[in-house]
Amino acid sequence: MDTLQQAWLQGEDWGGKVYSNGWQAVDSRLDVIEPATGKRLGTIGTASGSDVATAAKAARDAQAAWADVPYDERSSLMLRVVAKAQEHFEEIVDWLVREAGAIRPRAEFEFGLMVTALREAAFMPSQAQGILLPGPSTRISFARRVPLGVVGVISPFNFPLILAMRAVAPALAVGNAVVLKPDPRTSVSGGFVLAKLFEEAGLPKGLLHVLPGGADAGAALCSDPNVAMIQFTGSSAAGRKVGELAGRHLKKLSLELGGKNSLIVLDDADLDIAASNAAWGAYLHQGQICMSSGRILVQERVADAFAEKLAARATHLPCGDPFTGQVAIGPMISDGQLQHAKGIVDATVAAGAKLLAGGTHDGLVYHPTVLGGVTPAMPAFKEEIFGPVAVLTSFGSDDEAVELANDTEYGLSAGIISRSVGRALAIGNRLRVGLLHINDQTVADEVVNPFGGRGASGNGTSIGGPANWEEFTQWQWMTIKDKPNPYPF
Ligand code: NAD
Repeated sequence: MDTLQQAWLQGEDWGGKVYSNGWQAVDSRLDVIEPATGKRLGTIGTASGSDVATAAKAARDAQAAWADVPYDERSSLMLRVVAKAQEHFEEIVDWLVREAGAIRPRAEFEFGLMVTALREAAFMPSQAQGILLPGPSTRISFARRVPLGVVGVISPFNFPLILAMRAVAPALAVGNAVVLKPDPRTSVSGGFVLAKLFEEAGLPKGLLHVLPGGADAGAALCSDPNVAMIQFTGSSAAGRKVGELAGRHLKKLSLELGGKNSLIVLDDADLDIAASNAAWGAYLHQGQICMSSGRILVQERVADAFAEKLAARATHLPCGDPFTGQVAIGPMISDGQLQHAKGIVDATVAAGAKLLAGGTHDGLVYHPTVLGGVTPAMPAFKEEIFGPVAVLTSFGSDDEAVELANDTEYGLSAGIISRSVGRALAIGNRLRVGLLHINDQTVADEVVNPFGGRGASGNGTSIGGPANWEEFTQWQWMTIKDKPNPYPF
């Protein structure tokens, strides 16, 4: 057993358990595996459909009293969670490194985003929550934001802590209860960390349930009558299923899904800086980011020089276990994920693309790969790879860059690099994306911004910053008269 078991997040607390009205032992269990080494870090409990139903009912029972708690108390609770998190910074970061395979600076960045999400949520309860509407002087008419009830959050493995907290914190802050189902591969850093923090900060029982589990537990949440909304982050394939099920049960739905994001490098760009942007956008967290630069479109005149610079960077990035070494590239989350990426690379090379770097792996560490000469018919151009693979496609005119970038069902993020901001903007304005970065690569989230995608990247909702009121509350129109008036009937 590992030393992580002895500390704050002790296996004794959560081993074989789920968090639902306190820590509960359950029959079904799953080992937590460190992807870099294959070591077992502990054993979590996993929730059944009936555990989900019990949790959702308890959450609904607890929610009304929570919504009545004075706004400043809900706010203070969020700030106490921040303080608790800071107390346990080292250990939380270690879990991200070991369970999610994050390199340390990226884990620390994720921790920082979580703190921002909590602080932003702490401001929500003290903000104005409605508007006064016009009407006769004998009646007060206004619209106010009311909590939804129970919010079901289903989160993925790749940035497990922030992608859970970005929903849990604002949902709770505005008076909802939450049932969180983290990905079973990252249920400590993406679930039990949150349970411990909120528990120790004094969140009343019943308001946050953390139920690790797979698709079955997620589906149970989507059809539960006590759940008012599903906030889902994950693949477009699973998002479609979640959308169908939650839609059938008429739930409010937020889908944050996959991406195939273009980084466009124009022929007037500084190629060294552009190559550095491309390497960051394609390789950060092993390319396992929804906003990864999954397509790098380079203007023909500079395509060869750019490819050479990117391949040189890829070849020199240190790879390995991020817990024991200073590396830039850690392991992928699972063999399934690695085989998926490898399969796309191999098929694309077989279809005629050039392997300019990488294409090999050492255990779950897939080496940063560069594929040159990729055409729109090849698999790497079309599919979300979710691995450290830079896919290079060249274009002639600015119009052609727009056409290539929009040639996807996804619509999450895009980046354009050029010395001419006007030229980049003219291209950017024509891209069908939810996140657009001029003179930057495609990976960016600061939590204070609305985050959401178009097409197969989402269902038109956004999460974060000003979007959170729309996301986690709904309007209620209310009128008040001194006394009732008679009507003509
Ligand atoms: P995934 O869809 O396999 O799993 C995500 C979550 O959904 C997990 O908790 C999983 O257990 C659950 N799930 C899977 N099938 C389900 C079903 N039928 N019903 C209910 N729940 C179900 O995704 P993944 O492979 O873990 O994550 C990677 C994907 O997530 C990529 O496509 C990536 O682009 C996307 N992603 C999107 C964002 C965003 O904000 N847009 C952020 C991170 C990741």
